[in-house]
Amino acid sequence: DVLVFGSAIVDFISYANRLPKAGETLHGDKFSTGFGGKGANQCVAAARLGAKTAIITKLGEDLWGANYLEQLQSENVNVDFVQKCQGQTTGIAQICVADSGENHIVIVVGANNLLSSEDVKQAKKLFETAKILVCQFETPLNATLAALQAFKGISILNTAPARKNTPSEYIKAATILCLNETEAALTTGMDKVTTLSQAKEAMEHLLEMGANNVIITLGALGAVYVRSDEPEMFIHVSAFAVDKVVDTTGAGDAFIGALAYNLAQYPDLPWHQLIGAANQVAAYSVMHPGTQTSFPKANEIQKVAVY
Ligand code: ADP
Repeated sequence: DVLVFGSAIVDFISYANRLPKAGETLHGDKFSTGFGGKGANQCVAAARLGAKTAIITKLGEDLWGANYLEQLQSENVNVDFVQKCQGQTTGIAQICVADSGENHIVIVVGANNLLSSEDVKQAKKLFETAKILVCQFETPLNATLAALQAFKGISILNTAPARKNTPSEYIKAATILCLNETEAALTTGMDKVTTLSQAKEAMEHLLEMGANNVIITLGALGAVYVRSDEPEMFIHVSAFAVDKVVDTTGAGDAFIGALAYNLAQYPDLPWHQLIGAANQVAAYSVMHPGTQTSFPKANEIQKVAVY
């Protein structure tokens, strides 16, 4: 039901008391690896909730590619269109986190860069049968546009990572544009988008740029949305209450995975409920460590339609 056209990246995270200076070798005190990449994260978030999912992505012919493939299979994701590319490395992110919380990140997207419009053509059957398509900006832009244009169902474009001057054809091509504060600011050219009134202004901009439906996530404020059939109605859905923020990485991906799952499962659900449910899943992710490891299974959250 949910088809993701997107990235898969392995995170290598070293923790040290501070960040190293140029040329310096620093001893850290902890290391962990995690499966990441916005495409795979959003796919796994939807799969955990019970969606029938498939991902179109590319991995390297290396140890990490083999590991990632197993990981996706263990999450019940259809991997028929996951390709291991000869001579390529799997996408990796080398992350150093200091005690202060500051970080350094180097990302090498590797095989992810080879995703192309050819892959869209090859997966024609998936494009014809899926209900929801989810794309991001972590894959080559022309391939992402080809995927959006080939799809006839409901498409969600998460404009992450943030880009300046996103061409309007991308904004127009998606049924739903989903952005966080940084992405909303960069896409609209606003200084910042952190308050509800700034978010409303950003949504107005995006509608003028040709967006159909827009959702902006606002961290602890929850999310706001506007629909093309009611362009005057800017609606705020408060975040789900969180006892203690443990780790916010992956919150946006949990939100989008949940949105995709619920849109596929309950297409007639009013949007404030749909987004309330996505807020709930994202809040669970905020209360648990890691990225994919922080996403809930369906039985770990309340039932969707309780709003
Ligand atoms: P991103 O992870 O892309 O930066 P946000 O920070 O906007 O995205 O978070 C995405 C969603 O995660 C929010 O819309 C909200 O539902 C949830 N969320 C994030 N931070 C909190 C928080 N402190 N308390 C409750 N929910 C949160």
